Amino acid sequence: MQLKAYQRALLALVVLIMATPAFPAGVVVQDQDEYREAVKNAKPGDVVRLANGTWTDFEILFRGEGTEDAPITLTVEEKGKVILSGKSNLRLAGKHLVVSGLVFRDGYTPTSEVIAFRRNKDDLAHHSRVTEVVIDSYNNPERTETDIWVALFGRHNRFDHNHLAGKKNRGVTLAVHLKTEASRENHHRIDHNYFGHRPNLGSNGGETLRIGTSHYSLTDSFTTVENNFFERCNGEVEIISNKAGRNVFRGNVFLESRGTLTLRHGNDNLVENNVFFGNRVDHTGGIRLINKRQTIRNNYLQGLTGHRFASALTVMNGVPDSPINRYHQVEDSVIENNTVIDSRHIELAAGSDDERSAVPITTVFRDNLIYNEDGADIFAVHDDISGIRFEGNVLNAVESPAVSQGFASRKIELEKQPTGLYRPVDDTLAEVGASAELKVLDRDDTGVDWYPKPDYGPGFGTGAVTAVSAEEGALENAVAAAGAGDVLELEPGAYTVTKLLAVDAPLTLRAADADDRPRIEFERTALFEILNGGGLQLQGLRFTGKSAPDNPGNAMIRTSRYSMLDPYQLLVENCEVFDLNVNHSFNFLEVAKGTFAERIDIRNSLFNDISGAVIELDKETDDLGLYNAEYISITDSEFRDIGEALAVVYRGGTDESTFGPHFELQDVTLDNVGNNKRNKSGASVVMHGVQLTEIRDNEFKQSKPLRVIHTVGDPVTRIRENRFVATPEPSVKGGGALLENNTVQP
Ligand code: CA
Repeated sequence: MQLKAYQRALLALVVLIMATPAFPAGVVVQDQDEYREAVKNAKPGDVVRLANGTWTDFEILFRGEGTEDAPITLTVEEKGKVILSGKSNLRLAGKHLVVSGLVFRDGYTPTSEVIAFRRNKDDLAHHSRVTEVVIDSYNNPERTETDIWVALFGRHNRFDHNHLAGKKNRGVTLAVHLKTEASRENHHRIDHNYFGHRPNLGSNGGETLRIGTSHYSLTDSFTTVENNFFERCNGEVEIISNKAGRNVFRGNVFLESRGTLTLRHGNDNLVENNVFFGNRVDHTGGIRLINKRQTIRNNYLQGLTGHRFASALTVMNGVPDSPINRYHQVEDSVIENNTVIDSRHIELAAGSDDERSAVPITTVFRDNLIYNEDGADIFAVHDDISGIRFEGNVLNAVESPAVSQGFASRKIELEKQPTGLYRPVDDTLAEVGASAELKVLDRDDTGVDWYPKPDYGPGFGTGAVTAVSAEEGALENAVAAAGAGDVLELEPGAYTVTKLLAVDAPLTLRAADADDRPRIEFERTALFEILNGGGLQLQGLRFTGKSAPDNPGNAMIRTSRYSMLDPYQLLVENCEVFDLNVNHSFNFLEVAKGTFAERIDIRNSLFNDISGAVIELDKETDDLGLYNAEYISITDSEFRDIGEALAVVYRGGTDESTFGPHFELQDVTLDNVGNNKRNKSGASVVMHGVQLTEIRDNEFKQSKPLRVIHTVGDPVTRIRENRFVATPEPSVKGGGALLENNTVQP
């Protein structure tokens, strides 16, 4: 069919309109050369669009000079359909630039930043905006390698409605830099962003947001952090680390995030109208106060369990004539009209020690409402607090409060408001606590609406259940075919596993018949290898190492030998493990440096004849505050004839940025544990730098001693109701442990 000229023109117009679904139209570039050409020629008001598809190894430099009324825009053909992967990143420099619609995933930045508001240290971006950009798990695979996802430089920039989730390697998620004059007094706005899950890093350097550094902390920043949503931002004790002056933190929500908004350095900051929901998750905290002329008002904090530096409210002691990087005294600060509900700790003069001896002064704590249903007093006072004036505060039914002056204690009735927040029914308390106008930011009003916010992946037992027989190769095939959360139900019988079972997703192996335990032996140097993303739950099984090769250093379970970004879990229940002894140093669990367990649980299990150690978590020996596991729990179990230690947990360094490790040993029998000459620790249980140790109702027989070494923080160690038979008594270095009702017998 021949088209007439006007028909061809009309068709061309229709095609053009269809190809550019959003306005302003702008030029769609198809490759990196076209992009560079388009940006080079861009004039104020121009729009450059990246074509739909995946752009690999694209280091975007977006340099231009727009105007206030006519910025230059870099965006995408269609939002959600343009992916930057591999070794990609973005630098913007110039002024009046706008970037939107990019998605960074499936790779990591080759430089120190994914998005930098500068080309180099002299060429910065000003009056520019990055909005509706996604960075999703764009992580260097080496967890201790440092990079920053977003680095703000320059002045008057805005970072808003972005989605940043799944940062797992070391380095701040978003940092505001004040290194040079051109980035100070910057008046940046950081608003309506969604900060999703950041798992525990197990070391310092896991902050979600940092403004400044100690070095420039007496410089004013004038940055506003407003209406952002922080969900499970668990990297370290500082969710936000403020290290500059005159910043505002307003209207943000912190949901189940471990740690606190910390006013670490710098003066004259304002923290108001924020909402913290801990939902009683461990180590969830609120606000930590240090320095001068800080204001903390009209915040709502509920269900926070954190203590010490992660309490609902923490007022620190300072260091007299503090160096710039230590702790300046709290002075001239105000804490008023905050509501604290169902939370465990408020700490005053926290961190008091020989160095931190400058107590808070000329500070006011007034009109705060503190409610715990059971009348628990949540205040802890660590030093002289006569420099804090308390007035008009109200407590719920606390009998003899630690701080009594300036507090009224009475029975309060609370009522849930349409906003979801609780307030007293009694009108006479209308001026106490957070105001009735305080609202909770909706998660859906943050980030972007075209990219899903994360759910937290399948846990154990959430997938399909598959029956497995003892037939040759059946278990190996079933493990290889298993999906995340799947359960393999093993029929009774004797299994011989001839291959290493690699586990790259949460996987459960359990007995089909709890009264007839399957028996599993293995012919390789390990039975299971937990890879990144993997996790293992074992229930009702018997394992023997008697067919393992005659080599030293076998292990029943080992982690990947390389760095793993995802914390893993290992849960062992109702299992028997025996004859890991064909040669010396045969461990139950062998981990590698650069791996991190969120949880290791052994329950109701029996371990017999093991030449090595049961769990040895001591591979982070650089003494940088790194460690190999957060929660270790061993309960209701027996360990007989174990050559090396039952458990070694090592957390070195003096940094105070982590919560763990946590160790629990309860209702356990140790019989002849640690007596092999290769046991260099000379102990049956070694806890070095562990923050919380609970050891009770155990029996140690003919075993090497329990050894605890306190190194950093305020570790809590309780050793109670244990029996030591033909076993030396526990040794505790560093003091402060509670030893109670233990018996030592010959
Ligand atoms: Ca930190």
